[in-house]
Order: sequence, then structure tokens, then C-alpha cells
Amino acid sequence: MNAIAPPEVMSGAEPENVLRWAFDSFPRLVIVASFQAESSVIIDMASHIRKDVQVLTLDTGRLPQETYDVIDGVRDRYAIDIEVVSPDSGEVADMVRGRGVNLFYRSQEERRLCCDVRKSRPLARALRGHDAWITGLRREQAATRTNTPVVASDPEHVGLTKIAPLASWSKDQVWAYILENDLPVHPLYERGYTSIGCAPCTRATTAGEDERAGRWWWEQGGVKECGLHWSGAK
Ligand code: SF4
Repeated sequence: MNAIAPPEVMSGAEPENVLRWAFDSFPRLVIVASFQAESSVIIDMASHIRKDVQVLTLDTGRLPQETYDVIDGVRDRYAIDIEVVSPDSGEVADMVRGRGVNLFYRSQEERRLCCDVRKSRPLARALRGHDAWITGLRREQAATRTNTPVVASDPEHVGLTKIAPLASWSKDQVWAYILENDLPVHPLYERGYTSIGCAPCTRATTAGEDERAGRWWWEQGGVKECGLHWSGAK
């Protein structure tokens, strides 16, 4: 389904308006949540618009325990179903048989292979049957995200529209909304994490470091993306 977003939606100034338009425009809309701070905001806003919001998350098999706790906490708080999507067990088995369980530390190529098997391919499978998806991307998060549109055709998933209601929001706006509404947040933020992904591939950051510096911290140069949102990573 194609839908033309009006200017006030494209600006993204009011994420609630973006979400309301998205729910009205796409009958098969799904929120893809990583359960970082942005997910908390989007799920909370969406729950005020619809009671039957669809949420899916990618369980790579390597997430920190705290992420599983947040998933269940959000499920309970909003009384919503959350589809937990796993990678194909055969693809994972083939990958680790030849390359080891911690292949990602050996080269950027192997790290990207792991992200592809554990994240990108499962997401592509999970999005089949949907016509649009919502992500928590913000332009401020990384150089690779500075041009993130609020609404656009998704080049990675042909036929789907990708919607980033918080694209124009700052980190401060996200946290102000969280505090104002007393939302559940991932406990690793309190331990100095500024971006949270798989346990072996994420560390806390220090003052002055980029928000995503703790992701794949051992890689020098290159792009701090897994391929879900940046096609050049493939
Ligand atoms: S973040 Fe690390 S463990 Fe997770 S899918 Fe990517 S390489 Fe694999």
C-alpha cells in the first residue's frame, strides 16, 4: 500500500502525529523494537493511539539478560503481545560450525556475516506480510543516520514503507519524554551504555565518545551499523 505523507508528518516535529498517520495509512504496520530508549517512547505513544499495536523484536541469541527483562516488563506494562523473532537455527549452526561462536571478533567481514544471519535475515522474514514498519532511528545517533527520513520506501525491504517517528528528535527529547511519563528503560543505561545491542558486541561508553562508540568497539574505522538500517554494510 502506498500512502503520501503530508508535510506535518514528513517534518517529524510531532512523533505522535507521525504514528497516528501511520496507523491510519497502513493496516499491516509493525513496530520493530530493540528495547533501547527510543523503543520505550514509541511503544508508549503508540499505546495511546491503539490498543492492538503489533511489536516485534529480534532475539539474536546473544542479547544481554537485561534486554529480555525489559521485553517482559514492557509486555506486562502495556498488556501487548511482543513477537520475538529468532534467527534460522540451521543458518546459525552452519555459521558457528566453521567460524566459531565468537566469529565477530576476527574480522569486520565475519562480524557482518553474524549480523546478517542473526539480525538482517530474520528481520526480512518477519516483515513479510507487513506493509510498513516503525523504527526508533534518530538522525543524531550516527553519521550514517543524519539523512534518515521520517517516512520513505524501504530500499532493503521492497514494497514496505519505513517510518522513523523520532528521526528529528534529540537524545534530550527522548529522555525528557521518558522521565515525564515514567517509562521503563533498559538498566544498562545506568551502567554507562549509550547504545545497546548484543552482549559480546556492546560496551559502556565514556564521556566524549560517540553514542554508538560502544558497538563493535574493537573495529577501527568502518561503519558502526549491522545492516538493518544501512545497506552499505552488506
Ligand atoms: S551484534 Fe555481534 S553477536 Fe549480535 S548479530 Fe551482530 S556480530 Fe552477531
